[in-house]
Amino acid sequence: MKRIASFEVNHNILEKGMYTSRIDGDAVTYDIRMRRPNKEDVISNAAIHTIEHLFATFVRNSEFSDKIIYFGPMGCRTGFYFIVRDSVTPDKAIKLTYDAFKFISQYEGDIPGVSEIECGNFREHSLEGAKLEAKNFYPVLENYTVEMLKYKQ
Ligand SMILES: [Zn+2]
Repeated sequence: MKRIASFEVNHNILEKGMYTSRIDGDAVTYDIRMRRPNKEDVISNAAIHTIEHLFATFVRNSEFSDKIIYFGPMGCRTGFYFIVRDSVTPDKAIKLTYDAFKFISQYEGDIPGVSEIECGNFREHSLEGAKLEAKNFYPVLENYTVEMLKYKQ
């Protein structure tokens, strides 16, 4: 089988940030890298799960709601995939991601979608964990430029 594009990324030199992973027609996939792979502890599953709920809720309530295709965690637990229509330009995608993580870092109240009927693992959540992760990450995207979306070779 062919080696898929995401395995072509050199994980040894990867820094925290947001990167363009691939473009398929009008669908743009961004990699949101919150950990330096294999150098730092991965994100707890409970925190990842809560980030997933809060990020998805935020972006689907934003002005870009109908242009959001997908947001979900990487299996290695070092970050997330975020897929949007290309009408969300790269600068807007950065700003939206920054705003979403800032929102999560300050979130108070019930986690959206956390009930047995709405969620596949409703017991495994950590709002405190999600807030801490978001607080540590959103400053990475402050002053982030479109040029920085490109993976280093
Ligand atoms: Zn869930």
